[in-house]
Amino acid sequence: MQLKNPDADVYVPDESTVAEALAKTTHLAVGAHQDDIEFMAMHGILECFRQADKWFAGVTVTDGGGSPRSGPYEKFSDEQMRKIRVSEQRKAALIGDYACQIQLGFPSAVVKDASNEEVVVYLKAIFEGATPEVVYLHNPADKHDTHVACCLRSIEALRSLPEDKRPQQVYGCEIWRGLDWMLDSDKKILKLYDRENIADALCGVYDSQISGGKRYDLAVQGRHLANATFYESHAVDKYQRLSFAMDLTPLVKDPSLNVGDYALGLLRNMKDDITDRIVRMNRPG
Ligand SMILES: [Zn+2]
Repeated sequence: MQLKNPDADVYVPDESTVAEALAKTTHLAVGAHQDDIEFMAMHGILECFRQADKWFAGVTVTDGGGSPRSGPYEKFSDEQMRKIRVSEQRKAALIGDYACQIQLGFPSAVVKDASNEEVVVYLKAIFEGATPEVVYLHNPADKHDTHVACCLRSIEALRSLPEDKRPQQVYGCEIWRGLDWMLDSDKKILKLYDRENIADALCGVYDSQISGGKRYDLAVQGRHLANATFYESHAVDKYQRLSFAMDLTPLVKDPSLNVGDYALGLLRNMKDDITDRIVRMNRPG
């Protein structure tokens, strides 16, 4: 694959070609920033880890140059920060046994510019090369503009594929906002089986963010533990860690659906549930 952006980075841990790596990919995640994939798509990484017939690929859309910095990284220039973040994402790909990790290297402003179609073109080429069964995206109710832009560009790219090349399952995942607000019946429950050591190692490689002052490693672990415990009030914990996802498959299968209407429909379901419970539990009078 030719990526004309000089800041783009393609890493194939087993040193096969990127075309070969994409061809064997079954699970693919598109994240806005270096670290997003590990924070939101741990389910796919662990599903594929050391499996002969399942392979995970990561796509990171932005260049990481504008990321916040403090502590030991305080004096780093944008360029130094970009290099560190690219190398941290590569480390995660090696630890997580990915088929490949592609970093497109776009500035956030380009991704958020709705008139620019370059991101969609690249994502379409990657989806065509990989034809994954399962895709992990940001969810459209996330509160980070770049995350939502990446989600929308990815949905557009997936919709442009022939129907038989589209994935069977598309998840919108948690980062800047959890998805506990969705009704349990609307949630997709992603079980994180075992291998806490790998999960924690993957989140821990992002030293430039963690030592820079944000304990994302603990926050992600905490969210997954809390999701598992608070998922069912009347049953003991079957799983230690869960992540929640919005089912975006209908949006990809039916391009006529409006993404905003779809997300707001889920919110309406929650509103109805709150209203109904209060009415049922309230004493008359
Ligand atoms: Zn992010």
